[in-house]
Amino acid sequence: MKTTTNSYYATLEEEYLIDRSILQEIEEANRECQPIFAGISATTELNQLKILRAFQSNQVTDFHLHGSTGYGYGDVGRDTLEQVYATVFKAEKAIVRAQIVSGTHAIALALFGNLAAGDELIAATGRPYDTLLKVIGIHGEEGSLLKNGVQYTEIPLTPDEKIDLKELCERISPQTKMVAFQRSKGYDWRPSFRIAELAEAISRVKTRFPWVICMVDNCYGEFVEEKEPLEIGADLIAGSLIKNPGGGLALTGGYLAGKEALIEQAALRLTAPGIGLEVGSSLCFGRTAYQGLFMAPAVVGEALKGAVLAARFFEKLGYPVAPGYNDKRTDIIQAIQLGSREKMIAFCRGIQKAGPLDAFVTPEPALLPGYTDEVIMAGGTFIQGSSIELSADGPIRPPYIIYLQGGLSLAHIKTGLVFAAHELQKKL
Ligand SMILES: *Cc1c(COP(=O)(O)O)cnc(C)c1O
Repeated sequence: MKTTTNSYYATLEEEYLIDRSILQEIEEANRECQPIFAGISATTELNQLKILRAFQSNQVTDFHLHGSTGYGYGDVGRDTLEQVYATVFKAEKAIVRAQIVSGTHAIALALFGNLAAGDELIAATGRPYDTLLKVIGIHGEEGSLLKNGVQYTEIPLTPDEKIDLKELCERISPQTKMVAFQRSKGYDWRPSFRIAELAEAISRVKTRFPWVICMVDNCYGEFVEEKEPLEIGADLIAGSLIKNPGGGLALTGGYLAGKEALIEQAALRLTAPGIGLEVGSSLCFGRTAYQGLFMAPAVVGEALKGAVLAARFFEKLGYPVAPGYNDKRTDIIQAIQLGSREKMIAFCRGIQKAGPLDAFVTPEPALLPGYTDEVIMAGGTFIQGSSIELSADGPIRPPYIIYLQGGLSLAHIKTGLVFAAHELQKKL
């Protein structure tokens, strides 16, 4: 007997032995999410148009897709890609390079490039993302900002998890060179900061302290809303190309965009003084970075729909979720509170079983470079560690929250959610 006449559900029930209750819940969740999906599609259309126009106004041509080798002198494809990014993010200048190894590296370039000994960095959105704590050096890490003589101040969020604007403005002094904002919640159970909230905070800071650089960690936020942080007053943004702006195609890389002077400083850190952005071969990075950026709004739209569906589905299965399925979003992250180490492992096992690659491996918790707790990760992705592809991860610590993100198509994400729920059910 079949759950429905739909052969997708029938196949899952008959061939994958998924319990009918799970299929009924996801089918209902999917129905309830349709109005939210419509809103996401509208944002995708606008962002797709924005990117199309950036390609056209910079006259991207086939020649630009071919890479360079060695020093990479005169790599017009590389330089044009950076101009396209600058146009998309409304920046004076951008850096988009395969030589930026990760999002953490991109953010570190923004920080080290623009902060000298004696300068103060203020984190305005509470405790920063795990890997950035080591860049800052809160435990005395070698080579960190603190070891280089940069001062660091962290402004905790208010009890209702907002940016503490009053405290922030009171703490800014003539030594304060930069205020850093983190758009996405990272591994935290707080709401992410929407563009409107960042706009208010940045304009407060800029009105009173116009010399302060406002930097936004834009990881996971690109193309989720209609505007990006530079359009609402930020001076500098940074992010990863194996997240949103790489569209699932970029093979590696990171980006920075913002005021020309700040980008120039970061460039000296990326390469060397006197060299800056004139060198750096793009190898075979260009084609995937261009096409990935072009695909990014659509891919982000699919990932967002998947996150919304996950929120509704796991809420129905009895787990606390953040954000809720009909909350406004500014990133692609869906947090699900599972309540135990075993359930985190089971959830990841399900996501892994839904991967196009490595579906036969079993994720295990492990210590990873840059992180302080054991982390579990699932992701049978085409690009290693890519989290714009369907993936789930989280540090193993109470209350045992799994962070789900990415997915190149909603159809695939849906199957991943079903598999995760199936593994959780087996665990009970
Ligand atoms: C992913 C992420 C980073 C950078 O992480 P990498 O794994 O180094 O790319 C930084 N901040 C936030 C909020 C992130 O989500």
